[in-house]
Amino acid sequence: MNILIKEFIDSIDEEELYKLQYDLSKGSIALKKTVEDKVKEIENRKRKYCAVCGEELVEKEGVYTLIFPHENLTKKASFCATDCMEFFLGRLKTANAHKAETTQKETKDEAKLAEEPKQIHESEENINKLNGNSKTLD
Ligand SMILES: [Zn+2]
Repeated sequence: MNILIKEFIDSIDEEELYKLQYDLSKGSIALKKTVEDKVKEIENRKRKYCAVCGEELVEKEGVYTLIFPHENLTKKASFCATDCMEFFLGRLKTANAHKAETTQKETKDEAKLAEEPKQIHESEENINKLNGNSKTLD
């Protein structure tokens, strides 16, 4: 079953369509709740395979599931055992450490850039001082 929203709108009866229009005009509270409930139901479904070794998990007891942020999304991965989860966490740590390193380097470069005009400013001050000195000498 793969229905697009347009097809869904086309297929519901008039009464349901008017109810939907009314709900939309009132801030879509009922629609939001329906969508949220469906998303929750999907997220609570057991993952089919271990994210590391690919073992089938549907019939398995004691499955581990990890919910983690990834590029502004919430990702979910399930594992057959703790060693598979540890392996995955290791890879996640490496990826995050690499990301942090890159960000730190960028910050360092920015700090360097911020320092440079100061140095120029200082040397300008020195030049002014020198000029001032030469004036007093005159
Ligand atoms: Zn596994």
